[in-house]
Amino acid sequence: MTILLAAAFDAEEAAQWQACLEAALPGERWVRHREGADDIDIAVVANPPPGSLDGLSGLRLIQSLWAGVDKLLRDPTVPAGVPLARMVDPAMNTAMAETALWAVLHLHRDHDLYTVQQRERSWRQHPQRRADEVHVAVLGLGEMGRTTALRLVGNGYRVSGWSRRGAEVPGVMVAQGPEGLRRVLGEADIVINLLPLTPDTQGLFNATMLAAMRPGASLVNLARGGHVVEADLLAALDAGHLRHAVLDVFREEPLAPDHPFWAHPRVTVRPHVAAATDPRSAAQVVARNILALREGRPLAHLVDRSAGY
Ligand code: NDP
Repeated sequence: MTILLAAAFDAEEAAQWQACLEAALPGERWVRHREGADDIDIAVVANPPPGSLDGLSGLRLIQSLWAGVDKLLRDPTVPAGVPLARMVDPAMNTAMAETALWAVLHLHRDHDLYTVQQRERSWRQHPQRRADEVHVAVLGLGEMGRTTALRLVGNGYRVSGWSRRGAEVPGVMVAQGPEGLRRVLGEADIVINLLPLTPDTQGLFNATMLAAMRPGASLVNLARGGHVVEADLLAALDAGHLRHAVLDVFREEPLAPDHPFWAHPRVTVRPHVAAATDPRSAAQVVARNILALREGRPLAHLVDRSAGY
């Protein structure tokens, strides 16, 4: 049996991934292209070029190297009947929680204002707030959201959360449903988005939802660019309703050089670096699932295609 590694990697990335995957699964045969391999039963994918998996009749598992599978689910050439597993790696959850904590500290301790002031050579001190005076809302309490919420609780913030089915997260007030979302948005000083991009969450941060945020609140989007209606966010920032936006993800990536976010004084741009997949730990996650398949054990981290995540 053969494993297809279908990924839009450059040569250096491909070599690093291949080395980690082969070391984690020494008994397996790997190919980068399907041509000439008629016994492919597993595809390990990262932004696979469209059509890469089309018609692979022996496929029994598609394992994504990325946590978000929204792009894969939008690709009609990805076989619908084959189990699809996404990347769930505690090392990534930790990295995401670190980025979220940085963003919260940045806003809580007024470093968004001091960054602008430095450019203007302005020496002005703002009143210092305690962490327990800052209310942070985490939308999405899955792998990344839960780890993030717990990290923020540990750092003394007041934390609330929102998820589809509700959740128990120690120290976090959890809400559900549209009313719960409005309540959470209306209370928080900082809203962190860690939802998956699905038909239900696409464009969630539109003019109506941004207006439901507390005046002077900030948005931290670490999930997917498609969650935000960019024109509506710019309008909310320009009107002074929102204080700041920390954005790691965008509708079009890379962000176009002439995009208004780059130079906006109330926007912090990061180039999709909140939590990169680390090939060293991720290869172990992939290996565990492939061994489970080979040994007939249940697969981990399967995507519910009807829910879209
Ligand atoms: P999970 O699937 O583990 O968690 C998703 C959470 O969102 C769950 O709590 C789920 O609720 C909740 N949710 C889903 N749909 C809804 C809805 N309609 N209403 C309310 N809550 C909903 O995702 P991850 O934590 O692994 O990933 C979170 C996001 O981070 C994804 O968008 C991913 O693409 C992004 N990401 C970004 C990276 C970056 O570098 N910027 C890196 C990696 C991931 P429930 O618990 O009830 O199912």
